[in-house]
Amino acid sequence: MNLLYKSTRNAEHTATASEAILKGLAEDGGLFVPVQIPKLDVTMEELKTMSYQETAYAVMKQFLTDFTEEELKGCIARAYDSKFDTEVIAPLVKVGDTYHLELFHGATIAFKDMALSILPHLLTTAAKKNQVKNEIVILTATSGDTGKAALAGFADVPGTKIIVFYPKNGVSRVQELQMVMQKGENTSVVAIHGNFDNAQSGVKALFEDKELEKELSEAGYQFSSANSINIGRLVPQIVYYVYAYAKLLENEEIADGEELNVTVPTGNFGNILAAYYAKQMGVPIGKLICASNENKVLFDFFQTGTYDRNRKFVLTSSPSMDILISSNLERLIYTISGQDAKKDSELMEQLKENGKYEITAEMKEKLKDFAGGYATEEETKAAIHEVYKKTGYVMDTHTAVASHVSREYRKESGDNRKMLVASTASPYKFVRSVMSAIDETYAQMDEFALIGELEKASNMDVPGAIKEILHAEIRHTRECDADKMKDTVKDILEIR
Ligand SMILES: *Cc1c(COP(=O)(O)O)cnc(C)c1O
Repeated sequence: MNLLYKSTRNAEHTATASEAILKGLAEDGGLFVPVQIPKLDVTMEELKTMSYQETAYAVMKQFLTDFTEEELKGCIARAYDSKFDTEVIAPLVKVGDTYHLELFHGATIAFKDMALSILPHLLTTAAKKNQVKNEIVILTATSGDTGKAALAGFADVPGTKIIVFYPKNGVSRVQELQMVMQKGENTSVVAIHGNFDNAQSGVKALFEDKELEKELSEAGYQFSSANSINIGRLVPQIVYYVYAYAKLLENEEIADGEELNVTVPTGNFGNILAAYYAKQMGVPIGKLICASNENKVLFDFFQTGTYDRNRKFVLTSSPSMDILISSNLERLIYTISGQDAKKDSELMEQLKENGKYEITAEMKEKLKDFAGGYATEEETKAAIHEVYKKTGYVMDTHTAVASHVSREYRKESGDNRKMLVASTASPYKFVRSVMSAIDETYAQMDEFALIGELEKASNMDVPGAIKEILHAEIRHTRECDADKMKDTVKDILEIR
């Protein structure tokens, strides 16, 4: 059966999976969604013994139905290889009474690697399938982790160029160094004078700019996206939730069919949406708990049914979640509206015009699978400290937000189902915040000196990604104002 994709803002047009991946964003500004979420066609009993790569195939073939078996298996093999520092790709670690699914064992030590190590292969395969002759320009806005993971994935991939925009003062020192040292003839990195939402809205505007599209095409280029608006990023993220459940079953941590709650540290709503899709595919997932930092726009949304971005943007110690416009929420809005493209467009228009919208009571009723929570900066710090003191496990700041929220949720709801926490980054990536949460005196120390201290505290080897930046040469120094992104792109592509 061929699964088709539709835009959240248009009921008419359909696209194949490979077309949707190539485009990234639909022409009307909507996001591509499958017309229905396919069910798994293998049993948990079968999944139990599968490797990560085999699980990836079992899940992804249900969504990317116009890829041949050979194509898809080829993409998977090239993505999930020795770039990861463990053969299991996404290890499960029991911390106290909670299971942490470690998604940070790839090249750039954050969970974005889970999808961005395969997206370049999906995209170049899709280009071939669709006889695309243009060079593909990947345009990406990043709150820190996507940028580096996308750069690493696309560096020197033939037929592609990649341009990454990041907020100048909105990422950690390690994140910034990782990006500005990126090698590859086809890579560009730009610091914008603004925050992540400025970068993301700017990129979206470039996608929707018809005049620019024409100029690009004349120069032999077309845009695509490596952000989680691209369905080619979302689908690979479903895999690890299926995998985690199957492994818990194999290790006899849960019984067949037993429901598992999942807490996800959330920014753009991509990772948690993938967990929701996994649930719809048939994985026994109970509640999906959406964990926010002080930019708690999603927490408020789940409480009230009103999404309101009119508030102060806070820079926190979990910068990859410093987001006020969670673009993937649109896919959930579309689902709970009963796939009503008109309603979805209306609400998104309100978001654009007034910075807020309110869903109907009927739509709110359909949010029962979700719960929301948030952690303040103090609570995030305390979570790192307490879990370390109790168990010796060192969490990064993003994971700590989820850890705090998962415990609060348990306490307040009395829901005692087993809990999986998505661990989204290595503590090495946010070493200063992590170490000063463990002990205040570290706050004075140099970021690089702290790497050795973290190694001692955590018994985790210093990852290759960190060793790399210790000797890195800075290769990208470009900056621009948030309203000059178009000129910057044209400049980079030498379009006049
Ligand atoms: C991107 C990111 C998140 C947020 O994920 P979304 O899919 O945007 O919700 C959380 N933690 C880390 C470390 C990230 O890089």
